[in-house]
Amino acid sequence: MWSTAREIALGDTVIAWLTRELIQPLVVTPGKDLNIRFGYYRHDDLVGVPYGSKVGSRNGKGFIHVLRPTPELWTMALPHRTQILYLADIAFITSHLDIKPGSRVVEAGTGSGSFSHSVARSVGKTGHLWSYEFHELRASKAKEEFTRHGLADIVTLTHRNVCKDGFTVESTADAVFLDLPMPWSAIPQARKALRKDCLTRICCFSPCIEQVQRTVTALNDAGFTEITMYESLVRPHEVDQVPPMRSVDDAREILKKAEQKREDKRLRQIAATRQNLANKRKREGETDLAEEESHHDTASGKRTKTDEIDDIPQEPISLDHNIAGSSEVADATKPTAKTTVSKAFPEVRGHTSYLTFACLLPASPEVIVDA
Ligand code: SAM
Repeated sequence: MWSTAREIALGDTVIAWLTRELIQPLVVTPGKDLNIRFGYYRHDDLVGVPYGSKVGSRNGKGFIHVLRPTPELWTMALPHRTQILYLADIAFITSHLDIKPGSRVVEAGTGSGSFSHSVARSVGKTGHLWSYEFHELRASKAKEEFTRHGLADIVTLTHRNVCKDGFTVESTADAVFLDLPMPWSAIPQARKALRKDCLTRICCFSPCIEQVQRTVTALNDAGFTEITMYESLVRPHEVDQVPPMRSVDDAREILKKAEQKREDKRLRQIAATRQNLANKRKREGETDLAEEESHHDTASGKRTKTDEIDDIPQEPISLDHNIAGSSEVADATKPTAKTTVSKAFPEVRGHTSYLTFACLLPASPEVIVDA
């Protein structure tokens, strides 16, 4: 797929990690520069640098990390030509469509190729991805990227309207993924593309429930079964180690105390950070706050205020949550033994889309072979 060499070479695609929010891809090109607010870099200077290195700018204004691309990093860094799929959805879809090495997958539309890169890695050289895109420029850009990233043998990209003209393969795919504004109109075509000699799967990605309803009707009409809709949301958990406990009530009591302690610490830290800022401003006069808060203020990687504020624990969390037992059983005779507990944050944000999955059983139901 991407370069597997230890060191960067001319022509490689490299992920430049600037900050947690700023990640950008670059193709190492002779004579080219990268000029950003974190300094000035020459592509030529990156040649021979091991992947994963921290590289200081030529003008001492900051640093970047140069990383080897992975589908995950590509999703975070790629040039957006459309809305894209992110990792939580990609992982869920890949697993529920049972996409694995050797799988043959059909996808429409290609969009910015975020999903395609992950699928290409999952199916590997023994599988294949047929990807379809009706926007000509998007199709040619994605094709260019697949070739540059060494995926030309794994991904076949076709420029076409799948709702009108269908797919180029018949009775071939183990799985179909539709990320289209009107997935229901491509479902009869998707059925044609799927294998008929084993159980196969389809997933449609739609942001609104009205689209899901139409998709479910079309799936039923086309003979799909086990139609199920999911929404994938990321819920952070805080994991902690606490003294051994005898009951859930004990656990709640321990967690309550731990939470109070953390909250006190958080408030003390906020007060201290504010005090430090006020003192510093007094000493230096009113400097440009935006500059002050910049994550990258020097090439030295010195910690900044943003880092300090980042260290303050998150908002308090409710106690009405899972209490997961530790893999090691707490031994009451050992006073030092600890139990691992986890608490989920109550608030879950980030609706992307509804994922509607369905199965197509083999033509002859007596021979059910899971692909
Ligand atoms: N899944 C992609 C990704 O992760 O980057 C994003 C797909 S984007 C939201 C939807 C794409 O479907 C657009 O690029 C659009 O041009 C394409 N599209 C819409 N209708 C289509 C059709 N009938 N046939 C082929 N492509 C279509």
